[in-house]
Amino acid sequence: MAFTPKIRKYLVILLILGWVYSLSYLTLHSRKSGNHRQEATLLYRDNRLLMGTLWEVVSPHKEAGKIVFAEATRIEQLLSKYQPDSEISRLNRAGRLKVSPDTFYIIKKSKELWQISQGAFDITVAPLVDLWGFTNQKYNVPVEGLIKTTLKLVGSDKIILQEKDNVVEFKFPGMKIDLGAIAKGFALDCAVKLLKERNINSCLINAGGQIYTLGEKSAHPWKVAMQNPRRPEISGILELKNKSASTSGDYEQFFFNNGKRYCHIINPATGYPADSGITSVTVIADTGTDADALSTAIFVLGRTKADELLKKIPGTKAIIL
Ligand code: AMP
Ligand code: MG
Repeated sequence: MAFTPKIRKYLVILLILGWVYSLSYLTLHSRKSGNHRQEATLLYRDNRLLMGTLWEVVSPHKEAGKIVFAEATRIEQLLSKYQPDSEISRLNRAGRLKVSPDTFYIIKKSKELWQISQGAFDITVAPLVDLWGFTNQKYNVPVEGLIKTTLKLVGSDKIILQEKDNVVEFKFPGMKIDLGAIAKGFALDCAVKLLKERNINSCLINAGGQIYTLGEKSAHPWKVAMQNPRRPEISGILELKNKSASTSGDYEQFFFNNGKRYCHIINPATGYPADSGITSVTVIADTGTDADALSTAIFVLGRTKADELLKKIPGTKAIIL
């Protein structure tokens, strides 16, 4: 059966969520039948399609889902390249824009991550993402000359930031940015901040494979199952508390040409889809922003350079397939 990339992604997510639920049940069940009988905590589950993926919120606090979805909607309206009125779309059209503090912060943070990843994480790959057809699903292998010309528009050093008035400007006409590799992680962090302000201290958020685990579930870390993208099996179970886990993989969006697989993560050094030998990488970090950006960067850099990058951000680790 042929599925579109979006549906394929939902199926993987649903499978993962299925496991999260069965693990929730197992945890609760074993505790109830142990010597120290405890009451199982009632968990509320809520889901919503946002930022092009399925968001799932699990929490003993009924209002958690509403808070998370409202915040993710706000961030999507600022950062989505698919919404014509978002700040990113307006900046991409105009080449210069005074933006909100949140948008300014995440572009500045993206530049820092570009620096520490030695250019592997680069939000200015947008024209290349378009060229390869990943924006509108009209996949094609561009001619070499076109890739070379487009590469001239790539490089986060070509984003000029005016800190005093939140103005972002591109050095060359035709430049564009794409926050697809960091926006969901940032939205997780913003949502968690709000949850904490409302004294909610236990919540699992799964934004299409980008996860944040706030506090604990029934006095135990949250358990998250990792699905093997190539085989119908679970490749590991993570136990997380106040951590984010983000996965980047070649199975999310890809096409084949002459038997070669081309995926949606671009190596900014070559202009071609990343080809580091990694099928999937999950990064665990203290923030969603770092986990999201680092998983994309490591997918580009490959296994041998991953450690060097992880050492630069304390509290991070990666599981590479
Ligand atoms: P993720 O699934 O978080 O790894 O993000 C992948 C998305 O980020 C792609 O669909 C592109 O929109 C964008 N992207 C592709 N390559 C890069 C890169 N090298 N650095 C930053 N963003 C990228
Ligand atoms: Mg990412």
